[in-house]
Amino acid sequence: MYIIKNGLIIDPQSGFNQVSDMLIDQGKIKQISKEIDIKGIPIIDASNKIVAPGLVDIHVHFREPGQTHKENIHTGALSAAVGGFTTVLMMANTNPTISSPEIVKQVKESAAKEAIKIETVATITKSLNGKDLVNFEELLEAGVAGFSDDGIPLTDTKVLQEAMNLARKHDVVLSLHEEDPSLNGVLGINEHIAQKIYHVCGASGLAEYSMIARDAMIAYQTQAKVHIQHLSSSESVEVVDFAQKLGANLTAEVTPQHFSKTENLLLTKGANAKLNPPLRLEKDRQALIDGLKSGVISIIASDHAPHHIMEKAADNISQAPSGMTGLETSLALGITYLVSTKELSMIDFLAKMTCNPAQLYGFDAGYLREGGPADIVIFDQAEERIIKAEFASKSSNSPFIGDKLKGVIHYTICNGEIVYQKDSHAATLV
Ligand SMILES: [Zn+2]
Repeated sequence: MYIIKNGLIIDPQSGFNQVSDMLIDQGKIKQISKEIDIKGIPIIDASNKIVAPGLVDIHVHFREPGQTHKENIHTGALSAAVGGFTTVLMMANTNPTISSPEIVKQVKESAAKEAIKIETVATITKSLNGKDLVNFEELLEAGVAGFSDDGIPLTDTKVLQEAMNLARKHDVVLSLHEEDPSLNGVLGINEHIAQKIYHVCGASGLAEYSMIARDAMIAYQTQAKVHIQHLSSSESVEVVDFAQKLGANLTAEVTPQHFSKTENLLLTKGANAKLNPPLRLEKDRQALIDGLKSGVISIIASDHAPHHIMEKAADNISQAPSGMTGLETSLALGITYLVSTKELSMIDFLAKMTCNPAQLYGFDAGYLREGGPADIVIFDQAEERIIKAEFASKSSNSPFIGDKLKGVIHYTICNGEIVYQKDSHAATLV
């Protein structure tokens, strides 16, 4: 039993937003009250800090099985804890892919050993082949939280419609990576800078928003729960807005990198700024922020995508893999580029990293309530730090290394246990 004292407790789900104390007992929040005094029990001093629900990230790549030189479930979990996350959702583009109950079982056994909560999706099509649907029923029974072919966009319209019919039948979420390969050149580099600087055909906005338009209309017709991953272009926000107004059961996410930076980051950070979909123009970045403000985009997700340093160091940027390690910079990027700039209030920002993603997948997470799980992040929103190349993640492919960001996490608590503490080695012990 211990008390978290004097923190500004913010719970986006209930709207609670005041300085209070919190009593933690047996993995649960036992009491939230203006003042709690119990003699002789440990105290975490949260004065001048924010006490928020443990963050929830519904888009991470932990690379296990098959690509554990980049990351594994253990290092992914450590990285999440350092970043303030207590619940994460793994994508299924591992090797082999997460397409069968056997692999789900293997992943869940690994995940159960970790100090944070790790859920997984399964692929929509077998081994991401884009043609043959997986067995939704047996995978749901095995415990997957949803389905996604993230990494390989699903081009076959008929297959997609059938998948949505199944998703509707089982009341489960389909998450979609939207980039039509037939409309793209080199992935990860926006068409504008690709032409101007690299003299190649890059990744077009059209590839993204035309595919979203197609899928949003099938979502509307099937009424399946469909989630559009990592929006990057301004038109995509418009399309999602249109479909939501029409009555589609459609949600959308944006990554911190897409609301923080533009394609120009490639000029200074090279392959570490190469992402699918790519960083685009300032007008796109602004539209993504407007989408967050209006609520069209209800979720912020990291798309944590670790790659080995040698892979990113390919001679030609066109050959380097896309993606960045993101869990350890997400919160600070949001505070720096959304809250400090007064684009979003702290509580509205936190909703997009806690209760909104948890609600989409039905996770018992993302809120602070008496009797609820003691999954908590404690951070100082004004404190600054310079991002160093040392991450708990196995990889350090971040374009934010060297940047000064606002927001420093002091504690991450999951099920009442401290899984990360600033300036201690807790992260290596969990
Ligand atoms: Zn993706």
